[in-house]
Amino acid sequence: MSESSSTPAAPVIDEATIGDAVDAALAAIAAAATTAELKQVRIEHVGDASVLSSANRAIKDLPKEQKAAAGKLVGQGKGRVQKQLAARQQELAAAEEEAALAAETVDVTLPTDRRPRGAAHPLTTLRHRIEDVFVGMGWEIAEGPEIEAEWFNFDALNFDADHPARQMQDTFYVAPEGSGRVLRTHTSPVQARALLERGVPLYIACPGTVFRTDELDATHTPVFHQVEGLAIDKGLTMAHLVGTLDTLAKALFGGEPVTRLRPSYFPFTEPSAEMDFRCFSCEARNGLDHEADPGCRVCGGTGWIEMGGCGMVNPAVLRAVGVDPEEHQGFAFGLGIERILMLRNGVPDMHDIVEGDVRFSQHYGTEI
Ligand SMILES: [Zn+2]
Repeated sequence: MSESSSTPAAPVIDEATIGDAVDAALAAIAAAATTAELKQVRIEHVGDASVLSSANRAIKDLPKEQKAAAGKLVGQGKGRVQKQLAARQQELAAAEEEAALAAETVDVTLPTDRRPRGAAHPLTTLRHRIEDVFVGMGWEIAEGPEIEAEWFNFDALNFDADHPARQMQDTFYVAPEGSGRVLRTHTSPVQARALLERGVPLYIACPGTVFRTDELDATHTPVFHQVEGLAIDKGLTMAHLVGTLDTLAKALFGGEPVTRLRPSYFPFTEPSAEMDFRCFSCEARNGLDHEADPGCRVCGGTGWIEMGGCGMVNPAVLRAVGVDPEEHQGFAFGLGIERILMLRNGVPDMHDIVEGDVRFSQHYGTEI
Protein backbone atom coordinates (compact mmCIF):
# COMPACT_ATOMS: atom_id res chain seq x y z
CA MET A 1 0.00 0.00 0.00
CA SER A 2 1.59 3.24 -1.07
CA GLU A 3 0.11 6.43 0.30
CA SER A 4 2.24 8.94 -1.57
CA SER A 5 5.12 9.08 -3.98
CA SER A 6 7.51 9.95 -1.11
CA THR A 7 6.66 6.85 0.84
CA PRO A 8 9.58 4.47 0.63
CA ALA A 9 9.08 1.04 -0.76
CA ALA A 10 7.82 -1.49 1.75
CA PRO A 11 10.73 -2.40 4.02
CA VAL A 12 12.34 -5.74 3.88
CA ILE A 13 11.56 -7.72 7.02
CA ASP A 14 14.17 -10.38 7.27
CA GLU A 15 16.64 -11.39 9.96
CA ALA A 16 19.61 -9.74 8.29
CA THR A 17 17.91 -6.35 7.82
CA ILE A 18 16.38 -6.25 11.30
CA GLY A 19 19.62 -7.61 12.83
CA ASP A 20 21.67 -4.87 11.14
CA ALA A 21 19.19 -2.22 12.30
CA VAL A 22 19.35 -3.50 15.87
CA ASP A 23 23.16 -3.69 15.80
CA ALA A 24 23.40 -0.16 14.43
CA ALA A 25 21.02 1.09 17.11
CA LEU A 26 22.92 -0.66 19.94
CA ALA A 27 26.25 0.70 18.68
CA ALA A 28 24.82 4.23 18.50
CA ILE A 29 23.38 3.90 22.01
CA ALA A 30 26.73 2.81 23.39
CA ALA A 31 28.45 5.68 21.60
CA ALA A 32 26.06 8.35 22.92
CA ALA A 33 27.94 10.43 25.49
CA THR A 34 25.10 12.63 26.71
CA THR A 35 21.36 12.41 27.17
CA ALA A 36 21.01 14.91 24.34
CA GLU A 37 22.94 12.66 22.00
CA LEU A 38 20.90 9.69 23.20
CA LYS A 39 17.74 11.56 22.31
CA GLN A 40 18.97 11.88 18.73
CA VAL A 41 19.84 8.15 18.69
CA ARG A 42 16.29 7.36 19.84
CA ILE A 43 14.73 9.44 17.04
CA GLU A 44 17.08 7.96 14.44
CA HIS A 45 16.78 4.29 15.41
CA VAL A 46 13.31 3.83 16.91
CA GLY A 47 11.57 7.02 15.72
CA ASP A 48 8.77 7.01 13.15
CA ALA A 49 11.17 7.13 10.20
CA SER A 50 13.50 4.43 11.53
CA VAL A 51 13.99 1.03 9.88
CA LEU A 52 12.51 -0.75 12.89
CA SER A 53 9.36 1.40 13.06
CA SER A 54 8.84 1.17 9.31
CA ALA A 55 9.19 -2.59 9.55
CA ASN A 56 6.71 -2.66 12.43
CA ARG A 57 4.21 -0.69 10.43
CA ALA A 58 4.67 -2.96 7.42
CA ILE A 59 3.82 -6.14 9.33
CA LYS A 60 0.11 -5.62 8.97
CA ASP A 61 0.43 -5.70 5.19
CA LEU A 62 2.29 -8.98 5.13
CA PRO A 63 0.59 -12.19 4.13
CA LYS A 64 -1.12 -13.64 7.15
CA GLU A 65 1.24 -16.62 7.51
CA GLN A 66 4.31 -14.33 7.70
CA LYS A 67 2.90 -11.94 10.28
CA ALA A 68 3.72 -13.92 13.41
CA ALA A 69 7.37 -14.50 12.54
CA ALA A 70 7.90 -10.93 11.34
CA GLY A 71 6.16 -9.58 14.41
CA LYS A 72 8.38 -11.62 16.68
CA LEU A 73 11.55 -10.62 14.80
CA VAL A 74 10.77 -6.91 14.80
CA GLY A 75 9.26 -6.90 18.30
CA GLN A 76 12.27 -8.62 19.86
CA GLY A 77 14.73 -6.39 18.01
CA LYS A 78 12.90 -3.22 19.00
CA GLY A 79 12.59 -4.51 22.57
CA ARG A 80 16.36 -4.99 22.83
CA VAL A 81 16.95 -1.51 21.52
CA GLN A 82 14.38 0.05 23.91
CA LYS A 83 15.88 -1.78 26.86
CA GLN A 84 19.37 -0.55 26.02
CA LEU A 85 18.05 2.97 25.47
CA ALA A 86 16.44 2.98 28.92
CA ALA A 87 19.57 1.62 30.58
CA ARG A 88 21.83 4.12 28.83
CA GLN A 89 19.42 6.95 29.58
CA GLN A 90 19.57 6.16 33.29
CA GLU A 91 23.35 5.90 33.19
CA LEU A 92 23.88 9.19 31.35
CA ALA A 93 21.28 11.10 33.40
CA ALA A 94 22.93 9.98 36.64
CA ALA A 95 26.36 11.00 35.40
CA GLU A 96 25.05 14.38 34.27
CA GLU A 97 23.35 15.03 37.58
CA GLU A 98 26.52 14.18 39.43
CA ALA A 99 28.53 16.52 37.20
CA ALA A 100 25.99 19.30 37.76
CA LEU A 101 26.15 18.85 41.52
CA ALA A 102 29.93 18.87 41.42
CA ALA A 103 29.92 22.04 39.34
CA GLU A 104 27.55 23.78 41.75
CA THR A 105 29.47 22.81 44.86
CA VAL A 106 30.40 25.83 46.95
CA ASP A 107 33.91 25.64 48.34
CA VAL A 108 33.74 27.80 51.41
CA THR A 109 37.51 27.73 51.75
CA LEU A 110 38.15 29.43 48.41
CA PRO A 111 39.41 33.02 48.60
CA THR A 112 36.77 35.47 47.42
CA ASP A 113 36.66 38.98 46.10
CA ARG A 114 35.81 40.72 49.35
CA ARG A 115 34.33 44.17 49.41
CA PRO A 116 37.21 46.57 49.89
CA ARG A 117 37.74 47.64 53.49
CA GLY A 118 37.02 51.24 54.19
CA ALA A 119 39.41 53.48 56.02
CA ALA A 120 38.74 56.05 58.68
CA HIS A 121 38.98 59.55 57.26
CA PRO A 122 42.44 60.97 58.03
CA LEU A 123 40.76 63.83 59.90
CA THR A 124 39.23 61.23 62.20
CA THR A 125 42.47 59.36 62.81
CA LEU A 126 44.28 62.66 63.41
CA ARG A 127 41.56 63.78 65.82
CA HIS A 128 41.95 60.50 67.72
CA ARG A 129 45.71 60.99 67.85
CA ILE A 130 45.23 64.49 69.28
CA GLU A 131 42.72 63.16 71.81
CA ASP A 132 45.27 60.51 72.85
CA VAL A 133 47.85 63.22 73.55
CA PHE A 134 45.50 64.98 75.95
CA VAL A 135 44.21 61.81 77.57
CA GLY A 136 47.86 60.87 78.09
CA MET A 137 48.30 64.11 80.06
CA GLY A 138 45.31 63.25 82.22
CA TRP A 139 42.87 65.56 80.46
CA GLU A 140 39.27 64.67 79.62
CA ILE A 141 37.57 64.84 76.23
CA ALA A 142 34.44 67.02 76.15
CA GLU A 143 31.88 67.34 73.39
CA GLY A 144 28.89 69.56 72.80
CA PRO A 145 26.09 70.25 70.31
CA GLU A 146 26.81 71.50 66.80
CA ILE A 147 23.61 73.58 66.83
CA GLU A 148 24.43 75.87 69.68
CA ALA A 149 22.70 78.60 71.64
CA GLU A 150 23.97 81.98 70.57
CA TRP A 151 24.61 82.67 74.25
CA PHE A 152 27.06 79.80 74.59
CA ASN A 153 28.68 80.52 71.23
CA PHE A 154 29.17 84.26 71.81
CA ASP A 155 27.84 85.84 75.02
CA ALA A 156 29.38 83.38 77.46
CA LEU A 157 32.70 83.87 75.66
CA ASN A 158 32.66 87.63 76.12
CA PHE A 159 31.75 88.54 72.52
CA ASP A 160 30.02 91.95 72.48
CA ALA A 161 26.53 92.10 71.01
CA ASP A 162 27.96 93.95 68.00
CA HIS A 163 31.10 91.84 67.58
CA PRO A 164 31.77 91.38 63.83
CA ALA A 165 31.96 87.58 64.19
CA ARG A 166 28.25 87.54 64.99
CA GLN A 167 27.35 88.95 61.61
CA MET A 168 25.48 86.86 59.09
CA GLN A 169 28.42 86.85 56.68
CA ASP A 170 30.48 84.97 59.24
CA THR A 171 27.96 82.86 61.12
CA PHE A 172 25.23 80.42 60.06
CA TYR A 173 22.09 81.31 62.00
CA VAL A 174 19.44 78.63 62.45
CA ALA A 175 15.97 79.54 61.16
CA PRO A 176 13.67 81.15 62.07
CA GLU A 177 15.30 84.52 62.46
CA GLY A 178 15.78 85.36 66.10
CA SER A 179 15.83 81.69 67.13
CA GLY A 180 18.92 82.43 69.18
CA ARG A 181 20.60 79.38 67.68
CA VAL A 182 23.65 79.14 65.45
CA LEU A 183 25.81 76.46 63.94
CA ARG A 184 28.68 76.79 66.37
CA THR A 185 31.54 78.81 64.91
CA HIS A 186 34.12 77.27 67.23
CA THR A 187 34.29 74.55 69.88
CA SER A 188 34.70 77.16 72.62
CA PRO A 189 31.06 76.88 73.77
CA VAL A 190 31.91 73.33 74.86
CA GLN A 191 34.34 74.92 77.31
CA ALA A 192 31.62 77.08 78.81
CA ARG A 193 29.27 74.09 79.02
CA ALA A 194 31.96 71.93 80.63
CA LEU A 195 32.73 74.62 83.19
CA LEU A 196 29.06 74.78 84.13
CA GLU A 197 28.62 71.01 84.22
CA ARG A 198 31.89 69.83 85.69
CA GLY A 199 33.14 72.79 87.73
CA VAL A 200 36.78 73.38 88.59
CA PRO A 201 39.52 72.27 88.47
CA LEU A 202 39.00 71.35 84.83
CA TYR A 203 41.29 70.00 82.12
CA ILE A 204 39.43 69.30 78.89
CA ALA A 205 40.11 68.98 75.17
CA CYS A 206 37.13 69.71 72.94
CA PRO A 207 37.42 68.33 69.42
CA GLY A 208 34.56 68.83 67.02
CA THR A 209 32.99 70.13 63.84
CA VAL A 210 32.48 73.87 63.46
CA PHE A 211 30.86 76.05 60.81
CA ARG A 212 31.60 79.39 59.23
CA THR A 213 30.30 81.00 56.08
CA ASP A 214 33.55 80.50 54.15
CA GLU A 215 33.63 79.43 50.52
CA LEU A 216 35.34 76.11 49.82
CA ASP A 217 38.74 76.76 48.32
CA ALA A 218 42.26 75.33 48.60
CA THR A 219 42.63 76.43 52.23
CA HIS A 220 39.07 77.09 53.47
CA THR A 221 35.93 75.05 54.00
CA PRO A 222 32.62 76.11 55.59
CA VAL A 223 32.59 72.92 57.69
CA PHE A 224 35.83 72.18 59.47
CA HIS A 225 37.23 70.76 62.66
CA GLN A 226 38.87 72.25 65.68
CA VAL A 227 40.31 71.02 68.87
CA GLU A 228 40.34 73.41 71.79
CA GLY A 229 41.95 72.92 75.13
CA LEU A 230 40.94 74.45 78.41
CA ALA A 231 42.67 74.13 81.76
CA ILE A 232 41.28 75.83 84.86
CA ASP A 233 43.02 75.38 88.17
CA LYS A 234 44.71 77.31 90.91
CA GLY A 235 47.97 78.97 89.91
CA LEU A 236 48.02 78.21 86.19
CA THR A 237 50.23 80.52 84.11
CA MET A 238 51.24 80.98 80.50
CA ALA A 239 54.24 78.75 81.20
CA HIS A 240 51.80 75.87 81.66
CA LEU A 241 50.18 76.84 78.37
CA VAL A 242 53.51 76.77 76.53
CA GLY A 243 54.43 73.44 78.11
CA THR A 244 51.13 71.95 77.01
CA LEU A 245 51.53 73.25 73.47
CA ASP A 246 55.11 71.92 73.31
CA THR A 247 53.82 68.48 74.28
CA LEU A 248 51.16 68.62 71.59
CA ALA A 249 53.60 69.88 68.94
CA LYS A 250 56.05 67.09 69.70
CA ALA A 251 53.32 64.46 69.48
CA LEU A 252 52.04 65.81 66.17
CA PHE A 253 55.19 66.81 64.35
CA GLY A 254 58.04 65.13 66.20
CA GLY A 255 61.43 66.73 66.75
CA GLU A 256 62.17 69.17 69.51
CA PRO A 257 59.17 71.47 69.74
CA VAL A 258 59.51 75.18 70.26
CA THR A 259 56.36 77.19 70.68
CA ARG A 260 56.39 80.93 70.03
CA LEU A 261 53.62 83.24 71.22
CA ARG A 262 52.82 86.54 69.53
CA PRO A 263 50.46 89.07 71.16
CA SER A 264 46.95 89.01 69.76
CA TYR A 265 43.38 89.65 70.79
CA PHE A 266 40.42 87.33 71.42
CA PRO A 267 37.36 88.24 73.51
CA PHE A 268 37.62 85.12 75.66
CA THR A 269 41.29 85.29 76.62
CA GLU A 270 43.40 87.98 78.28
CA PRO A 271 46.23 88.18 77.50
CA SER A 272 45.77 86.55 74.09
CA ALA A 273 48.38 85.23 71.71
CA GLU A 274 48.86 83.65 68.33
CA MET A 275 50.84 80.47 68.74
CA ASP A 276 53.47 79.36 66.26
CA PHE A 277 55.29 76.05 66.22
CA ARG A 278 58.88 75.96 65.08
CA CYS A 279 58.77 74.53 61.54
CA PHE A 280 59.28 70.78 61.85
CA SER A 281 60.28 70.54 58.20
CA CYS A 282 63.07 73.11 58.46
CA GLU A 283 64.20 71.51 61.69
CA ALA A 284 64.35 68.06 60.15
CA ARG A 285 66.57 69.37 57.34
CA ASN A 286 68.67 71.98 59.10
CA GLY A 287 68.52 71.16 62.79
CA LEU A 288 67.00 73.17 65.57
CA ASP A 289 69.73 75.82 65.79
CA HIS A 290 69.92 76.52 62.08
CA GLU A 291 68.21 79.20 60.12
CA ALA A 292 64.89 78.50 58.42
CA ASP A 293 65.07 77.06 54.94
CA PRO A 294 64.05 79.95 52.63
CA GLY A 295 62.53 77.45 50.17
CA CYS A 296 60.52 75.54 52.78
CA ARG A 297 57.00 74.89 51.52
CA VAL A 298 55.63 74.05 54.97
CA CYS A 299 56.42 77.39 56.63
CA GLY A 300 56.96 79.53 53.55
CA GLY A 301 60.55 80.14 54.59
CA THR A 302 59.72 81.86 57.87
CA GLY A 303 60.75 78.94 60.07
CA TRP A 304 57.45 79.12 61.98
CA ILE A 305 54.03 77.57 61.45
CA GLU A 306 50.99 79.52 62.61
CA MET A 307 48.83 77.10 64.57
CA GLY A 308 46.02 79.11 66.14
CA GLY A 309 45.04 81.29 69.03
CA CYS A 310 45.52 80.90 72.74
CA GLY A 311 45.74 82.82 75.97
CA MET A 312 44.79 83.03 79.61
CA VAL A 313 41.03 82.68 80.10
CA ASN A 314 39.42 86.08 80.41
CA PRO A 315 38.12 86.62 83.97
CA ALA A 316 34.83 87.77 82.42
CA VAL A 317 34.41 84.29 80.90
CA LEU A 318 35.06 82.65 84.26
CA ARG A 319 32.58 84.91 86.00
CA ALA A 320 29.95 84.19 83.31
CA VAL A 321 30.01 80.52 84.28
CA GLY A 322 30.24 81.08 88.01
CA VAL A 323 33.95 80.63 88.62
CA ASP A 324 35.78 83.13 90.82
CA PRO A 325 38.77 84.43 88.81
CA GLU A 326 40.50 85.45 92.03
CA GLU A 327 40.72 81.80 92.99
CA HIS A 328 41.02 79.97 89.69
CA GLN A 329 42.89 80.88 86.53
CA GLY A 330 43.34 79.01 83.34
CA PHE A 331 44.50 78.92 79.77
CA ALA A 332 42.81 77.98 76.53
CA PHE A 333 43.89 77.37 72.98
CA GLY A 334 42.36 76.28 69.70
CA LEU A 335 43.79 74.60 66.62
CA GLY A 336 42.32 73.64 63.26
CA ILE A 337 42.54 69.91 62.61
CA GLU A 338 42.44 70.39 58.81
CA ARG A 339 45.38 72.75 59.05
CA ILE A 340 47.37 70.28 61.12
CA LEU A 341 46.59 67.52 58.61
CA MET A 342 47.63 69.69 55.66
CA LEU A 343 50.90 70.69 57.31
CA ARG A 344 51.72 67.35 58.85
CA ASN A 345 50.89 65.18 55.86
CA GLY A 346 51.60 67.59 53.04
CA VAL A 347 48.01 67.83 51.77
CA PRO A 348 48.15 70.74 49.33
CA ASP A 349 44.43 71.29 48.76
CA MET A 350 41.43 71.36 51.10
CA HIS A 351 39.32 69.80 48.34
CA ASP A 352 41.16 66.51 48.85
CA ILE A 353 40.09 66.50 52.50
CA VAL A 354 36.42 67.30 52.00
CA GLU A 355 35.55 65.54 48.75
CA GLY A 356 35.40 62.07 50.27
CA ASP A 357 37.35 60.20 47.60
CA VAL A 358 38.11 56.88 49.29
CA ARG A 359 41.50 56.75 47.54
CA PHE A 360 42.56 59.75 49.61
CA SER A 361 41.56 58.06 52.87
CA GLN A 362 43.02 54.69 51.91
CA HIS A 363 46.37 56.34 51.40
CA TYR A 364 46.41 56.90 55.16
CA GLY A 365 45.51 53.26 55.84
CA THR A 366 44.50 52.41 59.36
CA GLU A 367 46.88 54.73 61.15
CA ILE A 368 45.66 55.32 64.67
ZN1 LIG B 1 59.96 75.33 57.23
